[in-house]
Amino acid sequence: MPIPWRYVESWNCVACGMCCKDYRVVLGFNEWVDIIRKYGIGVTQPSISRFYLGKKGDGTCLFLTKLYDTWLCGLQNMKPKACKLWPFKILSRPKFGRPIEASYKYKDRKFFIYVDPTCIGIRWGQPTQVFTYRVVPELIEIALGLHQKQYYSTARISHRPQWINGRKGFLHRRNHSVFE
Ligand code: SF4
Ligand code: SF4
Repeated sequence: MPIPWRYVESWNCVACGMCCKDYRVVLGFNEWVDIIRKYGIGVTQPSISRFYLGKKGDGTCLFLTKLYDTWLCGLQNMKPKACKLWPFKILSRPKFGRPIEASYKYKDRKFFIYVDPTCIGIRWGQPTQVFTYRVVPELIEIALGLHQKQYYSTARISHRPQWINGRKGFLHRRNHSVFE
């Protein structure tokens, strides 16, 4: 059951790749057109009313790539909106209850924001300033289509391996999620 955003202290993606394995990614029509133009229609899967990203035989997204210990998104700047927003749900109604804890005022509008608790990058507690005033508004703006680029709601992962505590790995220059 999704949990209201006010129970989230912060969200720090650990690039576990779970969300790219366990879920099907719904594509908007324009996203579908852009992706099939570049990669061909075979990378998507149609259903009666929707288009989805294709999956490999093991159930993972076709574009999920492992680089050392980090799972990366191979779609990069074509990453679908559904992926940018996960694990958050930006709604106009309090669909999952607790409307006070889920409500968020953005300009003159009220939204209800929930998070999927299965994401292991969530830290529970009192929301930080960055989470409240940077991450959440950016998610709302992406949901509304006001901009595409993620600044606060995505990871900054160096693609060049670094030596960290004697191990070769990737330096997460900024804490917030998924793969970029
Ligand atoms: S968003 Fe959550 S589930 Fe997905 S890769 Fe990051 S930590 Fe894992
Ligand atoms: S973030 Fe990238 S790899 Fe993961 S499900 Fe979305 S498109 Fe696939």
